[in-house]
Amino acid sequence: MTEENSNFEIVLPDGTIYKPKKADRETYSGVRGYDPDGKPKKMIFSTKNGCDRCGECCRRDTPIILKEDIVLLTKGIISERDLYTIREGEKIRSAIDGEMYYSSMELIKIKPIFGSFTCLFYDPAEGCTIYEQRPVVCRIYECWSQNISITGIETRRLTRADLFGRIDFLTEAIKKHEEKCSLHKFEDIICELKKDKQENIEKIAEMILYDSSLRDWLKEKLSLSDDVLPLLLGRSLFEIAPFYGLIIEKEGENFVTKVMQEEEE
Ligand code: SF4
Ligand code: SF4
Repeated sequence: MTEENSNFEIVLPDGTIYKPKKADRETYSGVRGYDPDGKPKKMIFSTKNGCDRCGECCRRDTPIILKEDIVLLTKGIISERDLYTIREGEKIRSAIDGEMYYSSMELIKIKPIFGSFTCLFYDPAEGCTIYEQRPVVCRIYECWSQNISITGIETRRLTRADLFGRIDFLTEAIKKHEEKCSLHKFEDIICELKKDKQENIEKIAEMILYDSSLRDWLKEKLSLSDDVLPLLLGRSLFEIAPFYGLIIEKEGENFVTKVMQEEEE
């Protein structure tokens, strides 16, 4: 059997039979649903008809917290330490396709386990450790059915205003932080950095300094531990800078910033 006479063929709508060469099949493999040997991949159907607590969704991403979940905070099932804020305009890597996206709105989520996408409440042996009291988004997600998305996030999402809106000085601190350390501004300055290095390095340094000083000030004023700050002010500029193409290092009292090389297309 020659390469062209193999059992792999495509019948086009006009009846033409197309038999790709091995090289073509390799190009299609993994891209158009073919296995490396050129045979079409088998369709996979879910055999589940309910949640068996396999934890696959828990290892892929962490849930957005809704206003309906506030009871979990009041009952102490989830604490402020377990949450973090994604700020409006923040670049986030999608756990589904690995691509970077901008968040169009502020979101509060459960933290992942450090260095992974896995939810903090997931235990490899036990599965979800708060299963009976898990957040609404986890309850709605039914991997075995079509019911995998949630509607009305914009109005249903929990925000920092819902949590801290009655505490004036915290509301003011969050507002000031958003003004001084806006992520849209942060990204614009990084883009400008390539044109006028000195002026923009100073602007970036000012933002970073404000971000870190405000964190220190809140920690001291409220006797907070570090792990509550990602909820109050989002992730630090240090932490998210690499997503914007910038590495920031602190050397003594100075900040050293390095612009990362853009990946070639
Ligand atoms: S909903 Fe999540 S934990 Fe439950 S079966 Fe599906 S993937 Fe597994
Ligand atoms: S809260 Fe529980 S169910 Fe929801 S993602 Fe985390 S471990 Fe999974």
